[in-house]
Amino acid sequence: MEKITLKDKTFRKVISYEQLSAAIDAVACKINADFKNCDDVPVLLCVLNGSIMFTAELMKRFQFNCQVVSTKLTSYEGTGSTGNVKQALGLTADIQGRRVIVVEDIVDTGFTLSTVVKILKSYNPASIEIASLLDKPSMRKVDDLKLKYVGFVVPAEFVVGYGLDYNELYRQLPY
Ligand code: 5GP
Repeated sequence: MEKITLKDKTFRKVISYEQLSAAIDAVACKINADFKNCDDVPVLLCVLNGSIMFTAELMKRFQFNCQVVSTKLTSYEGTGSTGNVKQALGLTADIQGRRVIVVEDIVDTGFTLSTVVKILKSYNPASIEIASLLDKPSMRKVDDLKLKYVGFVVPAEFVVGYGLDYNELYRQLPY
């Protein structure tokens, strides 16, 4: 397996660009089946910064109109979650009575998404669905999260690239 050194750590290439593209095709296909021909304009909520690449790739494949909105939460420092989730950027759209698709890069402990969902619910949306490129279920510390659309299930290892950072670097890697 290809080894890649980033700063002080050695990583191995676990998911290629081609595999990511195929997984995003499959996720988009499921979302299109659920949302195309809809009369409403669903909100696509990009959870910054990790989800930028996945959000962009996903929306290119949509066969319906959506309003793209971003929010930002922080909990990670270095290679681990602090469990202390802070909202750094609030919502900029009215989501009351609307269907929301939350786009995440990875769900680890689940604290971040749980916080996002709690905040969203306080605005009374019609529904909230979650799309995550990666899922690390063995790390989960909350039990109230339902991920409707998932690209890959990954083991409890720290992953980098395709939007995910290592100390704010390497988000640009296409794998
Ligand atoms: P959680 O709150 O579910 O523990 O973590 C969610 C956030 O932590 C993700 O949106 C992501 O930004 C970051 N995170 C979790 N696992 C990883 C990982 O393996 N690599 C990187 N780069 N970030 C991660």
